Amino acid sequence: MASGDMQMLEGTIAWVNAAVAQLGIRDDMRDVIVEPWRELTVSIPVQMDNGTVRVFHGYRSQHNAARGPFKGGIRFHLAVDQSHTRALGMLMTFKSALVNIPFGGAKGGIQVDPRALSERELIELTRRYTRGINHVLGVSRDIPAPDLGTNSQTMAWIMDEYSALHGYTPGIVTGKPVELGGSEGRSESPGRGAAIVSRLAALDRGIGGESPSIIVQGYGQVGSSAARKFVEDGARVVAVSDVSGGLYNPKGVDIAALDKLLAEGGKFSDFKGEEKVSNDELLCLEADVLVPAAIEDVLTSDNAPNIKVKMVVEGANQPTTTAADAILTERGIPVVPDILANAGGVVVSYFEWAQNIQQFKWKLDRVYAELTSIMETAYRATQEYAMANSVTLRSAAYTLAIQRLHRAIELRGFLK
Ligand code: NAD
Repeated sequence: MASGDMQMLEGTIAWVNAAVAQLGIRDDMRDVIVEPWRELTVSIPVQMDNGTVRVFHGYRSQHNAARGPFKGGIRFHLAVDQSHTRALGMLMTFKSALVNIPFGGAKGGIQVDPRALSERELIELTRRYTRGINHVLGVSRDIPAPDLGTNSQTMAWIMDEYSALHGYTPGIVTGKPVELGGSEGRSESPGRGAAIVSRLAALDRGIGGESPSIIVQGYGQVGSSAARKFVEDGARVVAVSDVSGGLYNPKGVDIAALDKLLAEGGKFSDFKGEEKVSNDELLCLEADVLVPAAIEDVLTSDNAPNIKVKMVVEGANQPTTTAADAILTERGIPVVPDILANAGGVVVSYFEWAQNIQQFKWKLDRVYAELTSIMETAYRATQEYAMANSVTLRSAAYTLAIQRLHRAIELRGFLK
């Protein structure tokens, strides 16, 4: 990251401060909105396969539950620390408020590279982390979900461990395997939501016509599901990448063939026929829309002047630094912010939680119809606020979310 770019937490707080100023909220109330309500740090000793013991560090930051129980993913990544989870927990509060679902925000994780552990080590790590934080979780307290480096299998282990301690509790996590009470469509939801709002934002701005060209960085849960939905809607996905590098084809990468290769255990780099590009090169290719869907801080003051797309849609959380955001705005490149673009994940998590509580299963077409409706409503509200107040989509999204959060805090009489 370039020296002019703020760290993730500072950047998130800067956006909150701007929204608080826009709304005329008092300074002391700003602190209530920014500060996390509770944070937990746990040491997790794990006996490794070679007999040695390693101590890992785990976190859970519960940001705010004024609008509903704490809700947010669990990340397994080497960059996880208290400041990271705090920033990501705040984003979750604003995301839930923006799409108007009855959740607050939280985030957790373990500082680990999950690819470097055996399956047994990973299960042990996940179970011990769950035991360490189980007393602050609960179906109406705090409900984790998958994030970077975790998936439905991780959620199944968390549910199993929590259920061993508290009795059968499928609603304790979302993003579970469908066989264990997961919702149809949950794994496709964050990317699908991003593609839905991207299409609306492109139409409103006359970008790309019927078949816009799309670059997707990161081909995990968010990136791959976005790519599939873009193709389903007639767009051309011209470049995709994972951590090992990218594939580029101006006529469109064959997403179905790539998915088949990966499903059969092949590697991204094994995919034949497309030009190979680095992740840095991929971000600066020419196309209509860029969807950074891997990690944070990939668009910085270094590369923002060289971005050649007409619009950025933030599939990942906080992929754009505040400095890069200012450069893109100055250059007239709209940014659809993370708290709107990738909110489809928490929306279908809400459906999953509701299904678990009701013990009633929804069909996939109902999940997709309700997801589309919520994403469209949130996009329209954000777009209208941005137009009416001559502000960016990010500023509009933060302002709408913080307005709702502030109202809930007032109504609940926390400060009376
Ligand atoms: P994932 O682990 O499923 O996939 C991450 C992808 O990014 C992989 O393809 C990985 O190879 C790639 N990647 C990792 N490091 C990279 C790097 N340095 N450069 C380029 N590519 C890299 O993770 P995910 O769940 O898809 O999450 C991705 C982002 O989306 C994160 O910011 C996460 O917080 C956010 N998000 C996830 C969800 C969800 O439900 N999974 C919902 C909303 C937002």
